[in-house]
Amino acid sequence: MIFETAVKNLRTAGFSVQVFDTGAEAAAWLNQQIDGRTVGIGGSATVKELGLYDLLKTHNSVFWHWEQEQDEARLNAMKTDIYLSSANALAETGEIVNIDGRGNRVSATLFGHQKVIFLIGQNKLTKTYEDAVWRARNVAAPKRAKQFKVNTPCVASETERCFNCKSPERVCRAMVTLWGPMMGSETEVLLIREDLGL
Ligand code: SF4
Repeated sequence: MIFETAVKNLRTAGFSVQVFDTGAEAAAWLNQQIDGRTVGIGGSATVKELGLYDLLKTHNSVFWHWEQEQDEARLNAMKTDIYLSSANALAETGEIVNIDGRGNRVSATLFGHQKVIFLIGQNKLTKTYEDAVWRARNVAAPKRAKQFKVNTPCVASETERCFNCKSPERVCRAMVTLWGPMMGSETEVLLIREDLGL
């Protein structure tokens, strides 16, 4: 039920929504939709798991700092037609929550692209907005810190949670909530009935 409610609330907020049973189906659909375009990708374990960089780069100009020289790719990704991102959490009530360390990903989902596409696995869904913020801070962010092997208390601890650290290597520097698509930019949400990403 939570899935259907999220779809309804996202559409009411003005997002385009597509639902897929598997990540492979979502990736194949996107690979058909995006052709001959410039594409930027934010840091996203979901995008990596779906192999979208390798699929799209065969017939698009794709910029991703996880696969290319990082600073140049981040800058190029800010100027593309399309931007792909996942989310740290999606509330059933329709809010999309993302935390960022450098700001390239959250800023790109707000401005500068003709179209922003979020790929969101079912594990990111929460009941309330407060739960979504909690998940972003206490589940997704510590997992990302562990992925980057930074020197922070959430990496050192065996308990997976945020310690709201003041570490110089803190990966959480800003949190953005989308209540709806930004003016002048189409925003599409691909909801996937599989666990994907962090
Ligand atoms: S604020 Fe610090 S402790 Fe909390 S998740 Fe981010 S890096 Fe980890």
